[in-house]
Amino acid sequence: MQNHQKERLYKILVIGDLGVGKTSIIKRYVHQTYSTNYRATIGVDFALKVLNWDSETVRLQLWDIAGQERFGNMTRVYYREAMGAFIVFDVTRPTTFEAVSKWKEDLDSKLTLANGKSIPTVLLANKCDQSRDILTNNGLKIDQFCQENGFAGWFETSAKENININEASNFLVKHIIASE
Ligand code: GDP
Ligand code: MG
Repeated sequence: MQNHQKERLYKILVIGDLGVGKTSIIKRYVHQTYSTNYRATIGVDFALKVLNWDSETVRLQLWDIAGQERFGNMTRVYYREAMGAFIVFDVTRPTTFEAVSKWKEDLDSKLTLANGKSIPTVLLANKCDQSRDILTNNGLKIDQFCQENGFAGWFETSAKENININEASNFLVKHIIASE
């Protein structure tokens, strides 16, 4: 018997500075949990999220980093075969937003799709349950920033309050499927 179903397994990177909420976003998305202390164990962690997508099954393999964030870059091997990425910053800490373009450059310089394009990437402005000063002062500029830096789009998220995480992921998956 032939299997007509296309296998959709996507490696998704979650990158950004230390403490922006990468692990919290993944835990919220995959395990529906939230805690105030996820230990920054050194290494790489994976979590699998299975989605029903137009009568197909989409598996998202979310790659979390722990401990290497302080170097501000990752190895080519780590990025290898990723199909999409979230770059996360913390709306209460401007320096984490300043680091976003550095993360994007690192990613784009080490990984491109077969067609030469960079992988679909979505910017997450996390901790939007807290002070949103960065956004209210730069709100309009973030759209422009995304265009100029090759982001598919951006979302305000909160892992704590479970805001926009599913939406951001669906948006990314749509862009991944369109890029295939
Ligand atoms: P990581 O280093 O990027 O993996 O960040 P963590 O997920 O470990 O989060 C760092 C800290 O920020 C933890 O104390 C979290 O509880 C907190 N945090 C993460 N996401 C949110 C959020 O959406 N809102 C608030 N208020 N705190 C958050
Ligand atoms: Mg972490």
